[in-house]
Amino acid sequence: MNKSNEINEILEKFNANRASWEDFSKFIEFDFDNLERFFEITQKVKLENFNNELKIYVPGERFPAISITGNECELHCEHCDGKYLKGMISIRDNKKLEKFLINHNKNGGVGILISGGCLSDGSVPIFNYLETIKKIKKRTNLIINAHTGLLNKETAKKLIEAKVDIISFDVNLDSEIIRNIYHLKKELEDYKKAIDLLRSYNLNIVPHVCIGLYYGNLHKELDSIKFIKESGLHPSLIVFIALIPPNKNEFKTPTSLDISKIIGITRIIFPKTEISLGCMRPRKKFREQIELNSFKAGINRIEMPSAKTLQKIKKIYPEIKFKYFSACCALPIKHESLAKTNKSEIKRYMRI
Ligand code: SF4
Repeated sequence: MNKSNEINEILEKFNANRASWEDFSKFIEFDFDNLERFFEITQKVKLENFNNELKIYVPGERFPAISITGNECELHCEHCDGKYLKGMISIRDNKKLEKFLINHNKNGGVGILISGGCLSDGSVPIFNYLETIKKIKKRTNLIINAHTGLLNKETAKKLIEAKVDIISFDVNLDSEIIRNIYHLKKELEDYKKAIDLLRSYNLNIVPHVCIGLYYGNLHKELDSIKFIKESGLHPSLIVFIALIPPNKNEFKTPTSLDISKIIGITRIIFPKTEISLGCMRPRKKFREQIELNSFKAGINRIEMPSAKTLQKIKKIYPEIKFKYFSACCALPIKHESLAKTNKSEIKRYMRI
């Protein structure tokens, strides 16, 4: 069968919802100049299951990120090497954390992302802060999103006791990435165990999948999607982020077509699950292309899109409604009323 017949056949299977994992894998291998026919299918699936709207998240000061390790991280991952920690507020003791959160609540804060660097075992040392979070959750409505990394039973138990709202967990089923990018001496089994543990405590896990982490190329992202599907997780939301290449020769920027292939396949596999394009992604010259193609591929949430992207989306899909929230893009639906962005903030964001 020639290439174009093969593509037609696979797209037909996507459309009829009878594609196999092998079909998805083959589709990823094909080189495309554009994905418009694929996007017609992913848009159809999205509109069958969601309102014609895009939820836009602008965390800003109302949902800041806190690093409980300051700029320190023991892993020195190839793509990060601590650079993302520098953009977070460093808070390294419980008293300061409590004071910060009480003030944050008084000043109209919506919540926080509690994050930090990892220890050499791949965990974020969050356990010692969870008693403070527990107190704060009793006294305020602040929404807590935690990066835990790999974790043990004690931490999982404490996360549920502290009523942490969201666990943002990087799902990665690629042993080469674990070894060569994360510099972690861990196995795929360790990731599977961590997710099982979180699931056994009924925590709200929001899987984050990083596209192109393997030097900017697609490599086993589909394994992560398959794992999420078969693990019994049933997440209400999956967040996609994409590699921002570090300044090293062997890395490149993942293409918008590669990113939207993975997002679109996920839309077909998880028709009723919300999908977000999260905060870590290339923002410079490929920004609008990535954002627009991700929209066409079926996201219904996005963190901080450019105003130009929103204008383009409106032009192509004039019926679309935009809804704005001052929060992380993993905000649970039940808390949306706490995080609505007011009109003047929206205008400022859109530079209207
Ligand atoms: S991807 Fe979304 S949920 Fe995850 S840290 Fe970024 S804004 Fe928050």
